Amino acid sequence: MTEKHQQATQIVSAGRDKKWTKGVINPPVFRASTIVFDTMEDMRYAAKNKTNGEMFYGRRGTPTHFAFQAAIAELEGGFGTALYPSGAAAISATLMSFLKSGDHLLMVDSVYEPTRDLCTKLLAGLGIETTFYDPLIGAGIRKLIKPNTKVLFLESPGSITMEVQDVPTLCDIAHEHGIVAILDNTWASPINSRPFELGVDISIQAATKYIVGHSDVMIGTATASEKYWPQLRENSYLMGQTTSPDDVYLATRGLRTLGVRMAQHEKNALKVANWLLTRPEVDHLRHPAFETCPGHEFFKRDFSASNGLFSFVLKQGDSASVTALLENMSHFKMGFSWGGYESLILSYFGIDGIRSATKWDSSKPLIRLHIGLEDPDDLIADLSAGFDRFNAALAAKVK
Ligand SMILES: *Cc1c(COP(=O)(O)O)cnc(C)c1O
Repeated sequence: MTEKHQQATQIVSAGRDKKWTKGVINPPVFRASTIVFDTMEDMRYAAKNKTNGEMFYGRRGTPTHFAFQAAIAELEGGFGTALYPSGAAAISATLMSFLKSGDHLLMVDSVYEPTRDLCTKLLAGLGIETTFYDPLIGAGIRKLIKPNTKVLFLESPGSITMEVQDVPTLCDIAHEHGIVAILDNTWASPINSRPFELGVDISIQAATKYIVGHSDVMIGTATASEKYWPQLRENSYLMGQTTSPDDVYLATRGLRTLGVRMAQHEKNALKVANWLLTRPEVDHLRHPAFETCPGHEFFKRDFSASNGLFSFVLKQGDSASVTALLENMSHFKMGFSWGGYESLILSYFGIDGIRSATKWDSSKPLIRLHIGLEDPDDLIADLSAGFDRFNAALAAKVK
């Protein structure tokens, strides 16, 4: 069996232990706050094994949660998985679990904007200092390490601009200094890279995206290596992090088709991306599988596949022409998030305002696409009509 087959099998079977499913296929929804015990002995046993798959109190999870946690830990290749009510909560709680006042944090410059805001607002207020680093810094990260640096936070590819990082080099250097390496692994999902083999200590998923896959649930996961699992687990409990079993049920259900969905997203996106290459309006693609994407060589080395999310940069355009392109699409809708079956389109102005260690040329508009599961030929026709509107708006301006 090839590795692909093994992973496809894992996606179907991970977390389906009979002690959680009782033999039904999908782990059922166990809703609970109170768990009752018949004897003192039973209660003591549950208390002792509450981190070990025994029900103790609703906030600590039910078999619905345990099954999903086991599935994600197995697919990510880590030791244990903690659950959070959103991807943003997974990020904030994980950072707070490993940082305290007086500590220093290294944060990638192309990070998801709310993560940047967390650093500059809440963490700064707690006396935690952040240095943003160039996603292509590689071994140059050494120069930014201080005696009080405790966490290196990576997101690869970066949000919107899609730079791929040299994750193993960065993690190796972090480990030389006893620094915890945390990766936002949402783009790869748990199946398109092996974060723990690349040296990551904690891998985070906005499961809201491809794991849920149907744009109807918010949920986050953080998966730790054996070394960091006790601290992550304990601190997430201390912060009262919990998730609804109904949401977890939907996430587990979405997970089972992740492999086939991702393969189709990738195929559709590559077809649209290759068509964009033929368009005179397009300056370059920011798609990790294409050479024009910074860090493309690390994508080739560290990822097994791409997906439906990428960006492209236009040679020119202003607010009016980009608005003409984006509005009145038939299939692409304007909206945040991604990872569902539907196609999405967004334009980003002002990227320079959310970068501080690198420079972004905002004179060329950037468009981000999420390619869904529609027929890619329909999506191409939609974009083609969008470019007609874009060109008409540009021509009207020149007159
Ligand atoms: C969406 C996203 C998040 C946040 O997830 P939510 O579930 O929306 O809070 C974090 N990181 C990345 C890379 C994302 O795309």
